[in-house]
Amino acid sequence: MIPLAMPNLKGNEKKYLDNCIDTTYVSSVGEYVTRFESMVAEATGSVDAVATSSGTTGIHAALTVVGVDYGDLVIIPTFTFIATANAVRHCGADSWLMDISKEDWCLDPKLVKYEIKERCEKRDGELYEKSTGKRVAAIMPVYTLGNIPDMGAFREIADEYGLPLIVDAACAIGATYGGCDFGKLADLSVLSFNGNKTVTCGGGGAVVGCNKELLQHVRHLTTTARVYPDYDFDEVGFNYRMTNIQAAVGVAQMERLEEFVHIKRKVRSYYEEKLKDMEEEGKISFFRTTDGASCWFSGIVLSEGKTIDDVKAFCQTMKKADIEVRPFWKPVHLQKPYLDCPRSKVDVSEHLWQRIITLPCSTNLTNSELEQVISMVKSILS
Ligand SMILES: *Cc1c(COP(=O)(O)O)cnc(C)c1O
Repeated sequence: MIPLAMPNLKGNEKKYLDNCIDTTYVSSVGEYVTRFESMVAEATGSVDAVATSSGTTGIHAALTVVGVDYGDLVIIPTFTFIATANAVRHCGADSWLMDISKEDWCLDPKLVKYEIKERCEKRDGELYEKSTGKRVAAIMPVYTLGNIPDMGAFREIADEYGLPLIVDAACAIGATYGGCDFGKLADLSVLSFNGNKTVTCGGGGAVVGCNKELLQHVRHLTTTARVYPDYDFDEVGFNYRMTNIQAAVGVAQMERLEEFVHIKRKVRSYYEEKLKDMEEEGKISFFRTTDGASCWFSGIVLSEGKTIDDVKAFCQTMKKADIEVRPFWKPVHLQKPYLDCPRSKVDVSEHLWQRIITLPCSTNLTNSELEQVISMVKSILS
């Protein structure tokens, strides 16, 4: 079976894990957590990185420190992994779901600007959505597939309305944005190191950025809000810290970050080159990429008019040939827990998600495996 995305653990993972066992540092204390955090901070041009138990818990902590609270709204794209919306709900807030841009598949800043202008009012220095009466507490774009959208436009909107700008950058480690450091693009950005991401800790996350105070607060909150040396706590904290075992794997993985991102980008261009004729015949198109995209996943988009049933049939046929391919994110506004969330235009997401097929893109794929995938894709499309 050629799997969709497998971790690549051929570096120092085993050695560092052995060290955890030998030294008994398997829990929250240990050198790897600190090392992992400085590697992530450096790779993202951040002043600090706070390692967390997952991307989801990292997002929850980031939203909490910028003040997202019960009854608030957070603007997010409907086209995202469910965890984005879950983290908002974990704060007691609701997602205000908006559409993505066709160009980069990320939250559309023009739409956000328009919707705020049309549907919100300022009262006592806060922004309120008029039909729900709820306070808008943050904007949270998602770096879909490792694409970074026009962050300058989001910064302008955030500044104009006094809103915190948080990014769900869960799948975007390694992405670049002109000459600007990843960690400077938002007030806080959150990465995931889940098993299917470009760099993995088994499971884990990290909150990065350039505001020391915010990051210090994230660290405090994610480590039970304890005031040392004794058992004093000054807030309702979370136990969201990463363990030394997770970080040991993470350090070994971060040592290979450049290599992994290079391979991810190569896999993407390989598919595009080899399937170009299918694109020219109008049978498929490719995933959108921004300059500097980290190409977390690769794949194809079936032609307009095709639906999720066509995608599922395609996946079934591939499976019979021992190749794992899958549909991609079903938008949040179609998910049972979020059917009632306030929303704006969602039609780009609604049409696009039904036609996406993700193809195998592990960093340890061999050339002959890639060839197998390509020839099978071609034979189904023909
Ligand atoms: C993977 C992912 C998450 C969740 O991260 P976990 O570490 O699995 O909690 C959130 N958002 C996006 C966009 C993701 O791709």
